[in-house]
Amino acid sequence: MDCGEQYPVDKIIYACEKCGGLLDVQHDTDYLNKTVNKALFDQRLGTFEAPYNSGVWRYKEMIYPDVPNDIVVSRPEGNTNLYRNAKLAAWAGVETLYLKHEGENPTGSFKDRGMTGGVTQARVLGIERVACASTGNTSASLAAYAAWAGLEGIVFFQNKQIALGKLAQAIAYGATGIQVDADFDRNLELVREIADRLGIYVLNSINPFRLEGQKSIMIEVIQQLRWQVPDWIVVPGGNLGNSSAFGKGLHELYDIGLIDRLPRMAIIQADGANPLYRSYKSGFREYEPVHAETVATAIKIGNPVNYKKAVRSLKWTDGVVEEVSDQEIMDAKALIDRQGIGCEPASACTLAGLQKLVRSGIIKPRETVVGILTGHVLKDADAVIDYHSNQLEGIHPQYANKLHQSEATIEALSAILGVPEATPA
Ligand SMILES: *Cc1c(COP(=O)(O)O)cnc(C)c1O
Ligand SMILES: [Zn+2]
Repeated sequence: MDCGEQYPVDKIIYACEKCGGLLDVQHDTDYLNKTVNKALFDQRLGTFEAPYNSGVWRYKEMIYPDVPNDIVVSRPEGNTNLYRNAKLAAWAGVETLYLKHEGENPTGSFKDRGMTGGVTQARVLGIERVACASTGNTSASLAAYAAWAGLEGIVFFQNKQIALGKLAQAIAYGATGIQVDADFDRNLELVREIADRLGIYVLNSINPFRLEGQKSIMIEVIQQLRWQVPDWIVVPGGNLGNSSAFGKGLHELYDIGLIDRLPRMAIIQADGANPLYRSYKSGFREYEPVHAETVATAIKIGNPVNYKKAVRSLKWTDGVVEEVSDQEIMDAKALIDRQGIGCEPASACTLAGLQKLVRSGIIKPRETVVGILTGHVLKDADAVIDYHSNQLEGIHPQYANKLHQSEATIEALSAILGVPEATPA
């Protein structure tokens, strides 16, 4: 992406050999102009035919046109719901809010959209072992897709603060799991080095084929809105893979004329893991990794590998960056959960950040907003129970739903149920 050097699609490479920069999958615009149109993508809606039944591969021409269909490793992923919710819209201060629930993917997070691209590429390359460092969801996804494709999955975890649901998935799906006494950022360095040495394919989001898959979230949202462009896309930012992929996808949709303007992007970070936010505040003149701490473990990342691509996305979309506290994250999550939608802590940055941006006048009440919910409520069950029982250090739950204890008598139950409970928000 920096110096413009090109490499063939079947070369095993994660960074530019000339300048060390990040790699982009480069599409042939002429080919896309000739083959891609709204009718083609609409016609595939609801099909049972693989891989076009996937919400990633429905857009195959824009994702990975050359790969033979029988090589594609798909569960299938995507086709996630877009919820319009009036209560959460009102709480955030906008008229129209849609939530795109990426927790509805096969393993419960958007990572599946990237993993289908990455594991397919491992097959193209003929590599039998795939690995990643992860805060959790990438591991769960890699483990599942590797198993599905008959490859060995290898996952590096930090040895503390992993949400149990994610660890359980990786182990259940049969990945080789290694807990390393290091944070995510150090684990990523280790994975890259060991993979190099042992000929293992790295599937962290430095892998550009993953970002191609994640790009499909934007295409699918806009297709679900009947090809109308919302004013804002709000997304949590951790390693900034999504932020990077969204900008690229939107730019490509615009280039081939499927949309006539770009939405603005708002990236929301936890204030304890906010290197992009700090850099944004300096007008991108400065960038410094931070030591990350947040209850939202999926975005507990101090040195996002896709920083440069995310900045590019922000420039393309006239985007903004906001930060939110753990308190704001957990309260927003409780509200999303309370609607019957549910999400994991990191996902709730979307709603908390949106409210802040409306209050500061950056997002206007009349503007149409799509918020991305990145992961499923069951990924981090501990966070749910701890919040509602007031066990989260430093957090005072605003919307606690206390679990009742009762003797096995009608009198005791009547004392609890005789008065209907108030509904928050
Ligand atoms: C990976 C992940 C994120 C962070 O996404 P990036 O693309 O790394 O910024 C946010 N939420 C959830 C649930 C995730 O799994
Ligand atoms: Zn280069």
